[in-house]
Amino acid sequence: MSAPTTDAKTNGKANGKADTTAYTAAEMGPFCQSCGMPLHKPEDFGTSAEGFRVNDYCSFCFGDGVFTEPSLTMRQMMEKCVPFMAEAGIPEVQARGLMEAIMPKLKRWRGPSTAP
Ligand SMILES: [Zn+2]
Repeated sequence: MSAPTTDAKTNGKANGKADTTAYTAAEMGPFCQSCGMPLHKPEDFGTSAEGFRVNDYCSFCFGDGVFTEPSLTMRQMMEKCVPFMAEAGIPEVQARGLMEAIMPKLKRWRGPSTAP
């Protein structure tokens, strides 16, 4: 007796549809003011020198009170972020467009440079 092996791939996850609303609607919640990443979980947030949660930056950009890459430019940050967004299902062209739109508005990049 041989049962037919129906190995149909059933995708339970609803992927393929890039949710870009989180990146455009500032009302959606806090964003990292350096890379634009939405901050949802407590561990997403960066930390101050005293070890407290920093609401403005993510843990990738800011830790122990300092930027992890203080000399990074806005352009370099975009180049770093696009591959991550592509991994999240956002086409590169679209990711770049989003970055171009939101990056200059973020606290770290807008206005005169206050880099030490
Ligand atoms: Zn960040």
